[in-house]
Amino acid sequence: MQHRARKRFGQNFLTDGSVISRIVDTVAPRAGELVLEIGPGQAALTIPLADSGADLHLLEIDRDLAARLEVQFATRDNVTVHVGDALKMDFGEITDGRPFRLVGNLPYNISTPLLFHVLEWSGLVRDMHFMLQQEVVRRMAAEPGGKAWGRLSLMCQYRCTVTPLFDVPPEAFSPAPKVQSSIVRLVPHAEPPVHIADMDAFQRLTTQAFSQRRKTLRNSLRKLADASTIEAAGIDPGARPEMLGLAEFAKLSNLLVE
Ligand code: SAM
Repeated sequence: MQHRARKRFGQNFLTDGSVISRIVDTVAPRAGELVLEIGPGQAALTIPLADSGADLHLLEIDRDLAARLEVQFATRDNVTVHVGDALKMDFGEITDGRPFRLVGNLPYNISTPLLFHVLEWSGLVRDMHFMLQQEVVRRMAAEPGGKAWGRLSLMCQYRCTVTPLFDVPPEAFSPAPKVQSSIVRLVPHAEPPVHIADMDAFQRLTTQAFSQRRKTLRNSLRKLADASTIEAAGIDPGARPEMLGLAEFAKLSNLLVE
């Protein structure tokens, strides 16, 4: 029986063979490598990934699709199916604490929280290749000074080098999403580019700063920092949050927890 795409799981299945080949060629999995695919769906990427001989783990939330994958890959020793929610998943448990590569045409309806969750695993991840909305990839790779710069840019760039690779049009999927898509590569830093003394404090600061992007830092950060503390970090309290880079947010956050 044919599977009916479930909107609540962000199901837009890749159908364009040339796009599928291009993605898998870009990932270039090797035999024996540990690869975790989030949201394998109807196995568009999974089949060529499995053909590489990689030690492939699949994580799918949709029980019907997971059951089909179990049958489809039953005779493939290098493929293991896991049923579960990637947002809550302990990736270390799936991969037994071994370093792994992450791949996925991600469900767009949960892309931002899912990115924040996978970034937590950067210490174990060798690299990540994701399909996402083009607008999200722009935010991940943005530079300070523009509208795209925000918390997602800060967290992605604190953890990883972010490289947008190529765009994918809606016609490459069924059903077609309403937006353009892009493939992005994330490679975790060996050493973080800046020192953040307290990640919770950094999160609080950046969430507060970007919750009112049009306000000056003096106003939006009133509950967290006075103007003199902002100045002590070498930052103009009259600036707006998008003017501050990762190093400046880190400096201010460190100063606040000192
Ligand atoms: N990889 C397939 C492809 O490229 O055609 C499907 C991609 S589709 C955009 C997203 C997939 O992620 C679906 O199979 C969906 O069921 C699955 N998914 C959605 N939410 C998930 C979650 N929280 N955890 C794991 N998988 C999820």
